[in-house]
Amino acid sequence: MKLPMIVAQCWDDGVTTDARLADILRRYGARASFNLNAGLYEAHRRPGWRYRGTQVSWLGWNEMRSVYDGFTIANHSLQHPHLDQIPVEAARREIQEGRDRLEQFFGRPVRGFAYPFGTYNETVKALLRETGHGYARTVGSVPHPFPPSDPMEFHPSCHFLAPDFWARYEKAKSGGVFYFWGHSYEMIAEEQWAAFERTIARIGADPESRWGDLPELFEASKPGGRASAL
Ligand SMILES: [Zn+2]
Repeated sequence: MKLPMIVAQCWDDGVTTDARLADILRRYGARASFNLNAGLYEAHRRPGWRYRGTQVSWLGWNEMRSVYDGFTIANHSLQHPHLDQIPVEAARREIQEGRDRLEQFFGRPVRGFAYPFGTYNETVKALLRETGHGYARTVGSVPHPFPPSDPMEFHPSCHFLAPDFWARYEKAKSGGVFYFWGHSYEMIAEEQWAAFERTIARIGADPESRWGDLPELFEASKPGGRASAL
């Protein structure tokens, strides 16, 4: 029998709407990664910026453990700069310290990265490798995201609001992995939340798919990893 397609998802920035999103994911047994900026959060929630007329707020450290309980945490840099446009030592600190603070706070290894604004260059990629990151997500779109030819340019399948989301999902089945990403603050209308819940339910009910975690994918594909033992 054909193995089910692995479906992975990740969400950026550590905002208060992640709490609602995480509740939906839990209800359907879905897995996900959350890409966090450890240098932007304070003890409690605080206002961040406005998106399409709606206030976006960062979560506070006081809620992080419960909101993200059971999910994968990944690094999104310390303060969300364009890493390809700052001095190399500043970029190193953004990457290394962003990761170290998340590891200390959550008490587990953090191996994933998502590029702030999706921008990077060869220097940034080298810094990520040097600091022990296993993969770094871009904002590109490819039919078959895994395995990436370069783990530091890990292109997802598409954004969660892509108009051709389901066509891409079905096409990805021949490659075995579908990987979507987004920001929970992009859902500003109740109908968008309802549509998102239908998406999560439909994926969960698809016998040809199963939820997966990104670190699990990368671990399993290593020589001697779980995939080779199957
Ligand atoms: Zn971001």
